[in-house]
Amino acid sequence: MSYEHILVAVDLTEECDPVIKKATQLALNSNAKLSLVHIVEPMAMAFGGDVPMDLSQLQQQQFDQAKEKLEALKLKYPEVKTGDSHLTYGQPRQEIHQLAKEHKVDLIVVGSHGRHGLSLLLGSTANDVLHGAPCDVLAVRLIKRTE
Ligand code: AMP
Repeated sequence: MSYEHILVAVDLTEECDPVIKKATQLALNSNAKLSLVHIVEPMAMAFGGDVPMDLSQLQQQQFDQAKEKLEALKLKYPEVKTGDSHLTYGQPRQEIHQLAKEHKVDLIVVGSHGRHGLSLLLGSTANDVLHGAPCDVLAVRLIKRTE
């Protein structure tokens, strides 16, 4: 199966390397465009939207750091130059689906920890992105160091 535009979602931790590598292989095999996306989740959202202090400066720092890391990834993986890189505020599932629709993405690639137990009940970004996705989704299994 051949894809035309692959969007790889990165959390900007060291775990995003195997996810980008897999997406890069697929993009090369399909001669597809490869784009990157990272979503910065608003801090107020993480605290339940009810925080009695101004988080705007911290939020800006978080955004700036994410921008630097995304730039570093673009240098490390030149294949990403075939597409775009997106850095946006919001909720990962919603933003990734929106971008996929707007940019005619036909495959979204995410990392998956293959959780079980309590963390399975709490859900994961990979699970979240899969539900209601406007195109195919590939979950790249991330192996824990202890496995
Ligand atoms: P998690 O379920 O949060 O451990 O993340 C699993 C995968 O979801 C990561 O490997 C990324 O592919 C994707 N992901 C998680 N957080 C983000 C984020 N803020 N922006 C983009 N992708 C993300």
